[in-house]
Amino acid sequence: MSFVEQARVHPETSARFGDFHPPLERQAALAEANRCLFCFDAPCAGACPTHIDVPRFIKKIASGNLAGSARTILDANILGASCARACPVDVLCEGACVLHRYNKKPIQIGLLQRFAMDSLHASGAPLPFTPAADTGLSVALIGAGPASLACGAELRRRGIRAILYDAHPLPGGLNTYGVAEYKLPLIESLREIEMLSQLGVEFHFDTWIDAQRLADLEGEHDAVFLGIGLGAIRQLGIPDEHLPGVTNALDLIAGYKSGKLTQVPPRVVVIGAGNTAIDAAIASVRLGATEVHIVYRRGPEQMSAFSFEYEHARLEGVKFLWHAQPTRFLGGNAVEAVELTGSITLPADLVVLAIGQETQPSLSQKVQLDRGRIIIDRASGQTSNPKFFAGGDCINGGREVVDAVADGKRAGIGIAAWLEAKLARI
Ligand code: SF4
Repeated sequence: MSFVEQARVHPETSARFGDFHPPLERQAALAEANRCLFCFDAPCAGACPTHIDVPRFIKKIASGNLAGSARTILDANILGASCARACPVDVLCEGACVLHRYNKKPIQIGLLQRFAMDSLHASGAPLPFTPAADTGLSVALIGAGPASLACGAELRRRGIRAILYDAHPLPGGLNTYGVAEYKLPLIESLREIEMLSQLGVEFHFDTWIDAQRLADLEGEHDAVFLGIGLGAIRQLGIPDEHLPGVTNALDLIAGYKSGKLTQVPPRVVVIGAGNTAIDAAIASVRLGATEVHIVYRRGPEQMSAFSFEYEHARLEGVKFLWHAQPTRFLGGNAVEAVELTGSITLPADLVVLAIGQETQPSLSQKVQLDRGRIIIDRASGQTSNPKFFAGGDCINGGREVVDAVADGKRAGIGIAAWLEAKLARI
């Protein structure tokens, strides 16, 4: 059964999470592509962590070569379809577009990238790459999120076996379970990974890797890639935090994306003001809440959410309470309110913690850390333990999907180069 067939998305849930940015129709895409100046030394490409050759793929759209356009994208970013939807383009490629200098609207690079990738998927054409001849080498990749997927693709293109282990029943990590549905539907994440698996990436799902199993994998494989993300969601450490009805943003998002959660109660309070908090608040509105508050201990200028996310939440009716710190939860059998500094009591049927994850990932005993993050060589992704490489949130503390893809790609190339050099010395 394909990954898409295994997903149990509730039809009502997906209907509530329409596209954040509707796709471009063919004529609109051609017109938009023809607005591009095809800059030499294009700043948009420099602003992309995976360095997609933006003017090149746009030029191919303009000339009607959609397969070539998709290939240009995939050459640099094997998860080009999900990045087209999930990337904060306003602060990356589109934010760098030269048209800003002329007071013109930047090229809609994200939507054009999506147009090229959707066209490839709709055509039913295979992935435009094949694995190289088998080298007899193998790598274990822990986690099946964007970093491991990108690393695995690089390895397969060099004839190295890539075997991914993940505790979840489906691949994709945060792409599948953690990015808001209106940005990246679960089905789209799985469709993309199905295409990628044509390279021969192998998966072991529902597989928890503990320290002993990691030691075994180290012995069984030529290298190990750690794409293990971050630790648990942080706790506030205030009274009655474990009352039923207090949850966290990642569980809420994974719950509705996997079809287990189809509605929330009327009054929801989200604690924190990062992009994940915004996603949880908007999801609560779409899942039936009538009153959603975001509570943040600082002011709007200090919140880590992007300003366009903040505006989006306000448009959805989310209310913000600034300079408010929860001091305890109130309730009997379940949470009924949050007590805040300043003697404010905010009624709540559901409280969602979104104050970040622990930066100390599990399985990091084998490698050196700096403030909870795995230290790597920035050129190769290699850790202090030469057989171990790492990428994604466990090294960067939690950034964008495209950053994880860039990390995985670098590590895949780094592992292949390290193994090649090792073989040359034998
Ligand atoms: Fe096109 Fe803007 Fe990139 Fe120039 S900077 S190549 S105009 S998208």
